[in-house]
Amino acid sequence: MKNAYLGLGSNMGDKKRYLYDAVQMLNHHEGIRIINSSSLYETMPWGYVDQDIFMNLVIQIETSLSPEELLDVCQSIENRLGRVREVKWGPRVIDVDILLYEDQNLITDRLIIPHPHMINRDFVMIPLSEISPQLVIKGKTAIEWAQTFNLDALKKLSNK
Ligand code: ADP
Ligand code: MG
Repeated sequence: MKNAYLGLGSNMGDKKRYLYDAVQMLNHHEGIRIINSSSLYETMPWGYVDQDIFMNLVIQIETSLSPEELLDVCQSIENRLGRVREVKWGPRVIDVDILLYEDQNLITDRLIIPHPHMINRDFVMIPLSEISPQLVIKGKTAIEWAQTFNLDALKKLSNK
C-alpha cells in the first residue's frame, strides 16, 4: 500500500454534503483506505476570485492504486457528483486533487505530483499541517509552510 494525500474543495450548492459524499466514495473504493482527515475549513477563492467561498479539507489515504489510477478515481467522483468544467479555477461542486503520492516526483500529461500549487495555497497547507505537521514538502515541513500564511483567511468549521 502507498501513502498519499488528497485535497478536496467545493464552492457551489451544499458544499459540506459534496465534500462528505466525495470522502465516502473514496473510502468505499476497494483500493483506497482513509487514514486521516483534517478539519473542514471555509476559505477564500484562489485564482479566479469573483466567486463564492470554498470549503476545503485534506485527507491522508493508503492506496493500492497507481497515481494515474488514483487520478481516474478522483475524476470519476468529480463527474459523478456533477462537476462541469467551465472557468479555469472557477466554481465547481467538487475538486479532488492529488497532493502527494509517497515521496514521488511525477510529471506526465495528466499529472504533476507534488501538486504544483499546493505550497502556495493556505487551504491546502493549513489542513495538511493539521494531520501531518512534520511531513517535508519541497524542503520545509507542513507546519513551516502553514506558518507562511495569514491564518485569518481561513475559518476552521469543525474538528474531525
Ligand atoms: P484545479 O484542480 O487546478 O482547480 P482541475 O481540477 O480542473 O483544476 O484540473 C485540471 C487538470 O489538472 C486535470 O485534468 C488533471 O489532469 C491535471 N492535474 C495535474 N496534476 C494534478 C494533480 N496532482 N491532481 C489532480 N489533477 C492534476
Ligand atoms: Mg483539480
